[in-house]
Amino acid sequence: MVNDTEHQLVSLIRDLYGPESLPLHRPVFEGREKQYLSECIDSNFVSSIGAKVTEFEQRIGEYTGGRFAVATVNGTAALHIALKVAGAKPGDEVISQALTFVATCNAISYAGAEPVFIDVDCGTLGMSPDALQSWLNDNAERRAEGAWNKNTGARLVACVPMHTFGLPCRIQQIADVCATWGIALIEDAAESLGSFVNTHSGWRHTGTFGESATYSFNGNKIITTGGGGMIVTSDEHLSKSAKHLTTTAKVPHPYEFTHDQIGYNYRLPNLNAALGCAQMEKLEVMLRIKSEIANSYRQFCSEHKVHFVDAPAGTQPNFWLNAIQLESREQRDEFLKYTNANGVMTRPIWRLMSSLEMFKHCQHDGLKNSHWLEERVVNLPSSVPESEFWRLRQ
Ligand SMILES: *Cc1c(COP(=O)(O)O)cnc(C)c1O
Repeated sequence: MVNDTEHQLVSLIRDLYGPESLPLHRPVFEGREKQYLSECIDSNFVSSIGAKVTEFEQRIGEYTGGRFAVATVNGTAALHIALKVAGAKPGDEVISQALTFVATCNAISYAGAEPVFIDVDCGTLGMSPDALQSWLNDNAERRAEGAWNKNTGARLVACVPMHTFGLPCRIQQIADVCATWGIALIEDAAESLGSFVNTHSGWRHTGTFGESATYSFNGNKIITTGGGGMIVTSDEHLSKSAKHLTTTAKVPHPYEFTHDQIGYNYRLPNLNAALGCAQMEKLEVMLRIKSEIANSYRQFCSEHKVHFVDAPAGTQPNFWLNAIQLESREQRDEFLKYTNANGVMTRPIWRLMSSLEMFKHCQHDGLKNSHWLEERVVNLPSSVPESEFWRLRQ
């Protein structure tokens, strides 16, 4: 990218967002957030029992079409429990991607399992079903009860692909590979609330292709509860196990305290869920505004011959975080320096998990595309601009 283009991109961002120095993604509270919070406080239900938690679960379950939803304190906890109910335990291996936020791999570690890193597609930034198939062909053995790693002898208990920046990965193909091998599919849909995939049976929400999926409502996600997460599944039995584990594994009883296993205090408090209910009422408008911001970037990029990381074919992403792909590490570094020096926050994609100290020893397939993208992909400011807040207030 030449200097002139960088300069013009900074101007475009200034036109969108005004002169303030701005973060990549900030929350907006232009709906009924304060009203619902007051209702919680007035009712005294502020903690993990309350009507708003149940209502928020229902809303997410209905919106995604995933049916059963279990609210958690954050997205990492949701992944931890989704892995546990899938049967992940110490000694197991969980297939995931190296190009992800560290929470994905942390959750695998909490379950006592080891991640195995599979390469991503350059077009989706998400796990490549071809790379998955080929790694399994070379390294795994299909037994009656599932898939085993021939090299380590470990069970390949689950596969956790991620919908990067809200761009759907080739999830149907991944689901097919997982089904063939008897591997539980858990979608890390933390970034993809509002992202859909076109299938032969119509549009389907990301997070409805496997055994379960998890979402995050952290402050930087498309909607926020301050901190929060959700496990979504179409399997009622799994949802009950998940709810049980997130609520200290207490055996239901009118007054006695009995717990039948080591559980977790992972249930989302009512106060946070109240925020979530208000935010869900604005999701559709949010998505429209996000798609308009993506349009502006797309147009700019096509005029200036910059690679915009766009919707993969047959998908409708939420455009949570927009990204461009630069031509080299040098060009990327220069771009990051220039934009940040001019008060526009841009940042590189995550360091690959396979290069972090605690996951360095993990198996991987060479990660050719992941390395290539790691050096080139940069996020652009993607918040809803203040000038559009009036649309959220209506
Ligand atoms: C945000 C995020 C999470 C975890 O969410 P928290 O709510 O912050 O715990 C997990 N995976 C990915 C890919 C994320 O972006």
